[in-house]
Amino acid sequence: MIQETVERYRAYLQKLRAYNHAMGLMSYDMNTVMPKGAGPVVGETFGVLSEVEYDMVTAPEVEAMQKEILEHRDEVDPNLVRTAELAMEERARIACIPKDEYVQYTIDQTTADQVWHEAKIKSDFAMFLPHLEKLIAAQKRFARYYKPEAPVYDTMLDGYEKGLNTETLDKFFATVRERLVPVIATIKEQPDVSFLHRNYPTAQQRVFSDYLMDVLGLDRNHCIIGETEHPFTTEFTKYDVRITTHYHEDAVEASMYSVIHEGGHATYERNVADEIAKLPIGRGVSMSVHESQSRFFENIIGRSEPFIEAIFPKMQEIFPEQLSDVTAHEFYVAVNKAEPSLIRTEADELTYSLHVMIRYELEKRLFNGDLEAKDLPKEWNRMYKEYLGVDVPDDRRGVLQDSHWAGGLFGYFPSYAVGSAYGAQLIKRMEQDLDVWSYVRAGNLKPVVEWLTDRIYRFGSLKEPGKLMEEAFGAPFDPTYYTDYLTKKYSELYRLD
Ligand SMILES: [Zn+2]
Repeated sequence: MIQETVERYRAYLQKLRAYNHAMGLMSYDMNTVMPKGAGPVVGETFGVLSEVEYDMVTAPEVEAMQKEILEHRDEVDPNLVRTAELAMEERARIACIPKDEYVQYTIDQTTADQVWHEAKIKSDFAMFLPHLEKLIAAQKRFARYYKPEAPVYDTMLDGYEKGLNTETLDKFFATVRERLVPVIATIKEQPDVSFLHRNYPTAQQRVFSDYLMDVLGLDRNHCIIGETEHPFTTEFTKYDVRITTHYHEDAVEASMYSVIHEGGHATYERNVADEIAKLPIGRGVSMSVHESQSRFFENIIGRSEPFIEAIFPKMQEIFPEQLSDVTAHEFYVAVNKAEPSLIRTEADELTYSLHVMIRYELEKRLFNGDLEAKDLPKEWNRMYKEYLGVDVPDDRRGVLQDSHWAGGLFGYFPSYAVGSAYGAQLIKRMEQDLDVWSYVRAGNLKPVVEWLTDRIYRFGSLKEPGKLMEEAFGAPFDPTYYTDYLTKKYSELYRLD
């Protein structure tokens, strides 16, 4: 009898995937080529489709199938059991929200995102504020429907990284603050980075991007690279992964590190095991684990001296006029320049986590404390001064810089910092098994990707994120690997002691 349920459940999953596929493509289209004026109509379409999705995910007969599968777990494909388990959790999160509120929220989200784009250009926080307030109020309600007793922000963090909470993050950011702020403060003399800002024509940069995709081992038959203002990665199963980048002719490293970062996300998705690829569990398990991979390739590998040595001859070939008088070492030093700054996405590896910490502290107070949205700019600017020592000149370069809040993604930011820290612990473990840096110096990332595939990628969402990483590390998560890694790297770069 269970066999019949299994077949019905598989058919249901295929249908659900088709809806997700369509909505994903619409979202990709909206972020790449959609004419701006189409926004409101697309918002309506999203509203209709999200209603269908809500009905599909919350339908009682679907719940009945999932329960039956879990009751007969010993007779069913374990991949399907895990799918049902996660779907039950997801269902509990969504089904407690009244349908009209859920649909309205999807529409409000699209509107907020559009208003944010304009507000950012005009540096006009007041214009964005009412939309932001709506999203915050809705998220607070949703979190309380789901877990009435739990602190709201903890429920939201758990949505992006199961098991993550303010207790862990408070400790994590305290370690980051205590260990890294003093290192940042000792940096005085800066290297010459002027050659990064010579003229690098887009056409040449596109050739360079193709080369980097090859170095990362990304099969262009399944992974394309497009162009957007804000680079991102999206995937419709491992067989269709899309990354984007942005070209600045006066900053060669901008696209270079966007391609490597998004390429890291793509590498994760592309190496999920085929057996689970078409199931909902056939994708990266959480935001922190995903960011651990993108930031691992971007920084730990991509900003290492062996990697720069490997790719620099090719760079000089592609950019002969711009780089013939520069050495690989000078380039390595330049792309690691550390300096407190205003913009998170452009921040160096050393100061990056402080940008994230500020967002974390603000979100925590918005949802668990008494901070009101209208006071965000004031508090944002105060914390940038306190932790990074910079004056925020306007909201465009301050509180309006990131798109996350406009998309209702509260609780997402910490994953960038936790992911960075995961990467630092991973490399230590990897070094025990592999002569990592000899391979990297030879421009051969294959053994690195294979190691990561074996321990992380192939599992998709089969394991809980915390457990997955602990098994990959062979030890519990310890943020001091991260602070030690940064302290050592920057002490050498800046000859601090
Ligand atoms: Zn990323």
